[in-house]
Amino acid sequence: MGFPRFKNKYRMRSFVYPQLGKGQLFKGNQIKLPQLGWMEYVKSREIPDGFKVKQVRVVRKASGYFLMLTLECNVNVPDTVASGHPRGIDLGLDKFAATSDGELVERPRFLSTLHRKLKLLQRRLKKKQKGSNNRHKLNRKIARLHQRISDTRKDWHFKLAHKLVIDAGMMFVEDIDFRVWAKGMFCKHTLDAGFGQFVEILKWVCWKRGVYFEKVSKDYTSQVCPQCDTHTGKKELKDRIHSCPACGYTTHRDVAAAQVIRNRGINALGRSVLENACGDGLTGAGDSLVKSRKSRKNGGEARLKTAS
Ligand SMILES: [Zn+2]
Repeated sequence: MGFPRFKNKYRMRSFVYPQLGKGQLFKGNQIKLPQLGWMEYVKSREIPDGFKVKQVRVVRKASGYFLMLTLECNVNVPDTVASGHPRGIDLGLDKFAATSDGELVERPRFLSTLHRKLKLLQRRLKKKQKGSNNRHKLNRKIARLHQRISDTRKDWHFKLAHKLVIDAGMMFVEDIDFRVWAKGMFCKHTLDAGFGQFVEILKWVCWKRGVYFEKVSKDYTSQVCPQCDTHTGKKELKDRIHSCPACGYTTHRDVAAAQVIRNRGINALGRSVLENACGDGLTGAGDSLVKSRKSRKNGGEARLKTAS
């Protein structure tokens, strides 16, 4: 849905084979595509055992043609059990992310450097004559830079996701439709941050590592005290600290939001926050990380007690 996008010839393009022919598909470094026949390709990774190729998408990027394979698995993957140390993640525009354990993740610097470079090239494009060879060359250069920015960002998202799941048994994030969010006041910044992509990557990394993943309601996460549930009212953008007038709990606002998200996640699982707090040291920020590591060393995960 939405408006049709103007597509210039430098944009990424793709087409998909929803169904593949019967019989042999792969032969060494060749793949048999309908209509096209046997095509040579560079294999970046093997297809894991137990998986079947279901769909092939051919994508043209600035750096060449790519094959994206959709794999189908005929082995049942067991659902991840909700156990272990719970962690809430708050995504934001000031800090890229905050965890309920008190960690703050800065937005990556290299992206703004690359964006500045992009702006420069785009300005230069205006001076080039339409249809000229120089303009074509500059357009190619811009397309490659776009590609590099998106590759770099994705790579960073993967690294961050892997870092965030360390020592966690459960991950909770806000259920935000980032496309709608992006249309609001934060437009450009949000899109650059690529929150939607990051959440998808985080979900995948969790699945891969056997960490439980769930989205929770996003309402008022920055207006509630994670310690005593009191509504503390709307914070201004400049208010960087959460300080509860009712119980006195004070911490970074994004960390407080991440803790509210974590509490909601646990509540949604039907477990009492208080009981978890006793068993797993939820309340102390850096403290709980240390505790959960210790409990792992002593064998066995810090399994959460269910409220009964
Ligand atoms: Zn409070």
